[in-house]
Amino acid sequence: MSPDEIYKVEFFNAEIVGAPRSLPARVAPLPDEALASWLLRFAEPFGVWPEALLLGDGEMGFATHPDWWRKPDPLVVAALARGTGVSSDRIRLLSFANWPDDGIIDALPDRFGRQRYTAERPSHQSRRIGICPDCLAEDEVPYVRRTWTIGWLTACPTHGTVLIRTCPECGVKLRLPRLSDATYFAPDRCRRCAHRLARVASMIAAEPVLEFQRRILDGRPAGIVDLPQIGKIGWSVAVALFDMLLGAVWIDTKPTARDVLFARIARDFGTARLGELADGYQGLVILAWMFEAWPKRTQAALAMLRAVRPRRQMQRWPTLDAAIRGQVEALFLTAWPDERDNDERGSWRAWIDNLPQTGEELRAQARQERLPHRRARLMAIADVRDGLSVEAAAEVADVRPRTLYRWIKRGAQGGLEVALERPSGQLSGPQAAQLAEWIANAPSAGPRWRTNRVQNETLRRFGVEITIYVADRLLRMHGPWRRRKVLARRKLTVAPVYN
Ligand SMILES: [Zn+2]
Ligand SMILES: [Zn+2]
Repeated sequence: MSPDEIYKVEFFNAEIVGAPRSLPARVAPLPDEALASWLLRFAEPFGVWPEALLLGDGEMGFATHPDWWRKPDPLVVAALARGTGVSSDRIRLLSFANWPDDGIIDALPDRFGRQRYTAERPSHQSRRIGICPDCLAEDEVPYVRRTWTIGWLTACPTHGTVLIRTCPECGVKLRLPRLSDATYFAPDRCRRCAHRLARVASMIAAEPVLEFQRRILDGRPAGIVDLPQIGKIGWSVAVALFDMLLGAVWIDTKPTARDVLFARIARDFGTARLGELADGYQGLVILAWMFEAWPKRTQAALAMLRAVRPRRQMQRWPTLDAAIRGQVEALFLTAWPDERDNDERGSWRAWIDNLPQTGEELRAQARQERLPHRRARLMAIADVRDGLSVEAAAEVADVRPRTLYRWIKRGAQGGLEVALERPSGQLSGPQAAQLAEWIANAPSAGPRWRTNRVQNETLRRFGVEITIYVADRLLRMHGPWRRRKVLARRKLTVAPVYN
């Protein structure tokens, strides 16, 4: 249809609003135009708000939510088709009517921004948009793209420009007008201060971020995301996985630890350092970096962040749908090398399976134990005997999986009793006494000695190698330093829920 072409339009309620019987085609939908944008442009020449112009009383009831145009009711689509002469199919393509719902609100602005993970109750204003100044600068008739209304989209797919969501002049958040407003529709200007948005300076998104966004944007209409190394997963699983990863970055971590991660990302992408007030763009930067080398990068990130282990991270999302949780768990736990299933087939498995005691008997034995370390080991071994994975049993015992593997492997080599005992080294009584005296005479005002100093001294004096556990125990028992504060198990923050 050429811009000058005129077409006839029958108005549903033409006599009420006194609209003309024909309309210039310049109000035909433009490429990737959002339904709301098109309706606002369509109604403007009449000086009437779109809902009053195009919807009858019957349809109004289906258009009460301020964002109804994202997923318009079929009755409303039919009325719009009648009122504008544009086909229902074409109208649906201006909305997200064809996208599977999957329970995720694409409208939520900065969906992967920091606020989503830290704010108690993040504000959800309707009609929020981002704009691409480069697109607006090229527009003959300025209009709002459908993609700009996706809350997690952070860069213009055409120009690679990071979308502007706030007026740089007055700071107001950019929004579409209500469809019940008869205000002048000028999407190229700030609605508060009339600043020209087409002239706004913008930043080009990093290439890996654009690539990552392309992946999710391509897959979203079908509800499937194709992630590198992972393959195709459902949109809701992908979003839950992204939440898990970004939650691990923002929840219960220290700014200094995050700084280490952000410096690394900035170095790898050759971009400016991410800030603490991270928006949706920075959320995608973090994800893009993690998925460049899955799961290696995620392992590195969790280590840099000193984040709690994946099993505990999962607990931040107690309301996650069980089916989604299972899939996320399977993906997320591979990010932790000790938590992979293949270690389960280790040679120690036969030893555990053939233990004469059942899990229950091992637990009963544990309850009889006086020494806490023997009790903890028996309980963990009982869990594995009962079929729990080593990683899960380690989680229960609150030790690293690596530690539990060590206990079990020692047991497989030397029997249960060996698994329960701390390696003592081969120090004789007099040797231990000499070391104790040497440690006790250390200057108490100086820094606490490190275990390797004790290990080296033992080797030098007696030619005996002791483990760091023995060295540490000697330091703790005989050292003149104040006791090191035992770190309490960190409190786990549950992520805010508002999908
Ligand atoms: Zn653009
Ligand atoms: Zn402004």
